[in-house]
Amino acid sequence: MVAEEKQEQRLKEYNILIKTILKDQETIKYRYSDHSKEDNIENGIIIGKEYWKENTLLKKESIFDSRITYSYEWNKEERMTCKNCGNTGKKEEFMTGCPYCHTSYNMEYQKKELGSKHYYDLVVKKRSYQITTYLIAFLISSLLVSIYIINTSRTLYAFDLLKIGVGTVLISLLCYLPFYYLDAMILLPGIKRKKEKENEKQEAFFKEMNWQEQEKNKFFNNIQSALRTYYYGEQEKEVIDFDMMDYTDYKVVSKTPLRVEVTMDIRFIRYDKEKITSKIEKNTYCFRYQASAKELKPGENELTCPSCGGSIKIAEGKCSYCGTKAPNYAVWVLEKRE
Ligand SMILES: [Zn+2]
Ligand SMILES: [Zn+2]
Repeated sequence: MVAEEKQEQRLKEYNILIKTILKDQETIKYRYSDHSKEDNIENGIIIGKEYWKENTLLKKESIFDSRITYSYEWNKEERMTCKNCGNTGKKEEFMTGCPYCHTSYNMEYQKKELGSKHYYDLVVKKRSYQITTYLIAFLISSLLVSIYIINTSRTLYAFDLLKIGVGTVLISLLCYLPFYYLDAMILLPGIKRKKEKENEKQEAFFKEMNWQEQEKNKFFNNIQSALRTYYYGEQEKEVIDFDMMDYTDYKVVSKTPLRVEVTMDIRFIRYDKEKITSKIEKNTYCFRYQASAKELKPGENELTCPSCGGSIKIAEGKCSYCGTKAPNYAVWVLEKRE
């Protein structure tokens, strides 16, 4: 079963509905996880997700990586060839990913430089940033108000202390918004520099690997699908959804077999004891390169069954004689979690 279907099954089991809100060329569109609403998306970005259970909104997320674009416009009857493994079939068969290599065709990861707005959003929408900003505004206001009151009144009575208190609160509230933007302006160059460093690391990694565009896409697609298989599998029963926030580091740990460690920020949505929690985690995963199943020639959509020698139609996923599962062409497999 493809990872997308596993997630759907899990949502059904917990009776949770995810409403995804997308912006597609300035139009707001919706896709619901139970298929009750599925707008066509040409080239959209996710701007929000809502997690519902029995008509109650349990959680809402509004920060998404705007570098990832989505398309869900499918002429189901049209035929296509998978760019990753060569498998050819009706587009319908590719709806939840290529049945052979599991490459997803709904999602595209754009260039990293486009992401500075995303990083900015990540920082300024954080609760800790808002609290710190308010504290700074509060401290500065209390200082100004105290100096003013102490200088204008000859003696310091309780009434003056009250004036200091009320004045501080009022002025700090007035200051909050200007401070919010001022702090962001101060922070932004730092964020940009940090992200530029990460971009350089990513470029250096691609250079070391000697990868062209297609290999890069293959890599991102494959590791995404490996993660989906893992998180919607048996070990992580509480995960009902996750979104990539950022890739932050790459490291080649061995050459033969080729192993790569990737550090990324992922926001996990978990469901446990009738509650939905959301948490951004920085995790490092090790992916191993394996060329286990053969690449298909364009137009080829059948394999020889490794058990009985019959033929396996890739779209069916298993041998029609003996039931042996079709080999998986996923090139990058998740090796271990740290
Ligand atoms: Zn494929
Ligand atoms: Zn067979």
